[in-house]
Order: sequence, then C-alpha cells, then structure tokens
Amino acid sequence: SSCEPNEKAWRGFLDTVRNLLPGTEVEVLQDDHPAPAEWPKDVSPAGLDALAQRWLDRVPDDESDSIYVVYLERLQFDRVGEAGSKRPWIVRRGGRYVYVPGFILSCNMIEHAFAPFVGRTQRERFVLTHEFGHTIGLVANEGHSFPGDLGHCREHGCAMRSLESRSLFSALTVGAPWSRLSMRFGDRCRSDIAAVQRWVDAATTTAERHDRAGRFRHDARLLAIAEWLERHGREAEAFRVIRQTAARDDASPELHAAYGGYLRQRGDLDAAIEEFRRAVELGAGRRTRFALARMLCGRGKYDEALDLIRPLPERPTMFEVPVIAWALEGTGRPEQAARLFRWLSRQRGVPRGYRYETRLNLARLLGRMGRCEEARHLLAKFESWNWIPALIDAGRFAAQRGEAERARGLLRRAEELALQKLLSSKKAKDEERRLSLALSAVEASALLDEDQGLESLLALIDRLAADRTRAARHGAGYRLAAALVVLGRQQEARRRLLAAWGSYLPQDAHTDPCLNERLRQVLRKSGAGEGVKGCAVRDDLHRDAGML
Ligand SMILES: [Zn+2]
Ligand SMILES: [Zn+2]
Repeated sequence: SSCEPNEKAWRGFLDTVRNLLPGTEVEVLQDDHPAPAEWPKDVSPAGLDALAQRWLDRVPDDESDSIYVVYLERLQFDRVGEAGSKRPWIVRRGGRYVYVPGFILSCNMIEHAFAPFVGRTQRERFVLTHEFGHTIGLVANEGHSFPGDLGHCREHGCAMRSLESRSLFSALTVGAPWSRLSMRFGDRCRSDIAAVQRWVDAATTTAERHDRAGRFRHDARLLAIAEWLERHGREAEAFRVIRQTAARDDASPELHAAYGGYLRQRGDLDAAIEEFRRAVELGAGRRTRFALARMLCGRGKYDEALDLIRPLPERPTMFEVPVIAWALEGTGRPEQAARLFRWLSRQRGVPRGYRYETRLNLARLLGRMGRCEEARHLLAKFESWNWIPALIDAGRFAAQRGEAERARGLLRRAEELALQKLLSSKKAKDEERRLSLALSAVEASALLDEDQGLESLLALIDRLAADRTRAARHGAGYRLAAALVVLGRQQEARRRLLAAWGSYLPQDAHTDPCLNERLRQVLRKSGAGEGVKGCAVRDDLHRDAGML
C-alpha cells in the first residue's frame, strides 16, 4: 500500500466477512513490498498493472484463499464514484496461469468522490465490503441486478448497490434510507451465495462435500482466467481451457453454463443447449435457466422453456420478460404474453429506452395476432419522434392493412433518416450506433423493394458486425437475413444466418420474414407465387439456425 489503511474500517469489514462466512477463519496479513516510498504517487489504471507485476512475482501459486487488497494514494479514474476497482491479476508462471484475486482502493477517491456526509472510516469500510463482494462474484443474478448495470444490486440497504448511482443522488437526499451506505450484503445477494453453498451441501458424503467446495473454487478461478484470456484476444485458448474442464464428471454448474455460452457463441446451439441443461440439473441459478429457455424457444421447444422459467418465485426482470413472452406465444398463449409486455411497460425503474423497446415488442406481438389497429395506436407516438425502428414497424402495419401509400411514406422516412444519420456519424466510437442505423436502412430498403446502394451497406454491416458481441446485441444476423429474404436473396440470407454472429437470438427474433414478404407484395401489388416461396425458405432458415 502507498497510503495507510484505516484500522477501524478494517475491523468493521472483517466483522461483515466473518458474519457472511461463519466458521471460516479470516486473517489479515500486511505486506510492505514494495516499500511505501517506492510507490508512485499518481497511477493510471494501465500503469497500475505494470506496478502490480512487482509484487505479483512474489505471490505463491498454491491457490490459497488469499484476496489481495492494494491501497494507492492516488489513482486516476475516469468515472465518478470509482473509489475501488476489482481485479483478478493473472500471472503466467512455469507454463500455467496463476490466478490472483483482489481489488484496489484509492485513497483520493475514498476521500472525495461520493457520499459527502459520510465519515472517512465508513466510506472506506463500505468500499472494502463492496469490492470484496465483487471479488467473490457478486452480483451475477439479473433477478436483482440494477437495470442497465448488471454487476450491481438493486436492493436498498445492500453493500452491492452501485457507487455511481449514489454520488449526486445521495448528496441531495441525506438521511433517506437509500442515501446511507450499507455495510452488509442484502438478503438477495446472501441468498445467491447460499445457492452456491447448496450445491456444495447437496453432496452425500463429507469427502464429496469437501471436493465440491474445492471444485467450485477451482472452476471459478478457471472462468476468471478464461475471461482474462478472451479480453486479451486469445479466444481459442480460453475455449480450450473451459472445454477441457467441462468434460470432467465433476465440473460445477457454473462451468457447464460458461462452456455452453462459448458453444452458443460458436453457433453450436444443440451442444450449447446440452451444456446448459446439465448446468440447470446441477442447480445453476436463474440467469442460466433463462439463457437455456431462450435457446429452447429458438429451437421451437416452447413447452420445455416454459417449464424451466415458470416455477421461479420472483417477478421477472425486463431482460426476462421477452423470453417468457416468447415461450407463452409459442405455446399458444399470446394474450398472456401481451399482458406481460403491458405490465412491464408500466413498471417503475425500467429505463426509458427499454420501455420503448417493450412497447415495440408489444406492437409486434399484436401485429402477429392480427390486432394491427392496436399495434398502430401504440406506435403512433413514436412516429412523431422519428424513432427509426418504430417507423419501420409502423410501415409494416400500414402495409399489412393494405395502406400501401402510407406504408411507403413511413418506410421511406425511416430509410432516409437512417442514411442521413449514418453519413453524419463517422466517428469510431459511434460504431454501435452505425451498425444499428445500417441495419435499419437495409430493412427499410428491402421492404421498399430497393437494392440501390445495398452492397455498400452490406459491406459496412459486415465490418461493423465483425465484433460478434455487438452483432448479437443488434440481432444483426437475423435482421439482415430477414431483409435478404424479402429481396429474394435466399441463399445469401441462409449463409449470413449461419455465420457465427447469427446464432444469438435477439429480443425481436419475432420479426417475421414471411410476413415481410407478404408486405412487400402489398407494396408491389404483385402475385402470390413468391410469397409462398419466401415462407418455405423461412422454415428452412429457422430450422438451420435455430430461429423461431
Ligand atoms: Zn461496484
Ligand atoms: Zn444485494
């Protein structure tokens, strides 16, 4: 450390840890290497990792249960409220990776950044508790994650609440329950920890129990190492590490789920489903169940999906609602699905963007139910805002009702807006937005039956969608394939869907190429022959790529 840890803060923090892990011995060791005087006064996050190498070399590689806490006098953070920051450090030593869990505290940030009416000791104790929570894997449960900030807890009075959400807000509301810094983990975070414990406790013999506890620790380390490898561009190596361990009989549920995630990313949906099933059998949590349910829906196995997510006691989150709605619709209960979307769109705490997304999802569902008037009504407000996805959907509904002129007008507006905005956003950091705009432009052009300028848009999308996570977030593979089917380019659509980035199932996977095909006919006022062909291709596409 390069500044003095606060003794009282540590005493309080250790109480919390002992309370969380009764019967566990907790010991604090102070290490003065490098000597405090040798530490730089001001460190950037990147410089920190170089600095860390100096003491990491001395860390024993016996996989003990130590957690390393680094105190820095000044650390340059780029975000408000970051008084601490979780790490593991990964060191390669003698042909293997050594996992060094821990976190960093910066005294300057503890001093100034947040909770202006809370004493120094309490702040430090809070940061210690909070970062310790991250280090042991909290919060990995969307059931109580903060909307838009999944690593933090939503529960008031939990130490895993986000520091950032506090900064200004809590300064304005001193004395209110949410402005206090909680020094303990809330019930929901504690029950997540208990869930892991249950897997360990489910062992029948003491030896097996001991074994499972060790296995869980081992697997958690392995996952952290794989994550680190991936972040450093070594995906193939990460995949190998996980695959080797998942093949063992005694792999933990988390490891099976992680391996399933890798398989899904690679487009091997059936193998991914098998791994996720195994994880759920072994008692994996809610997040894994929903991931599996989503994939099952993609394979048309709606009953199994619904069985998986039905018995969950807590209210569904905004991330879970589309999956439940999908399963409900698939099992012939579209009314219930619509009610669920309506319910979500009225919930407090749902970010605005997500609320719009929910209404769009509802409108699409109503459209599929043949209730176009209601769908149109829902979209009317968005039209005046020039929200491009809503314009495209409004165009679809207008066409579905035979209002070809109106449909053409809306789609034209969407296309022009998307192209215009695409031209004006050339900066590299806008890539996320550019992908979304390019996809919208292609969708609108396809429905308008225009392929002028399409090739350059497709090339742009290929480039922007090379980042697979980004492509998945926008459902790029699916949307593009749907547009290509509309344009009659079935082979190309299939090829793109089957490409790796088409394997993920987007929220709006309902967007129906067959419907699009019919709409295009309305716009062209042409015969029915092609439409039938389009639908047949649609079925093939879905069978091949695991779509709806
Ligand atoms: Zn945090
Ligand atoms: Zn919590």
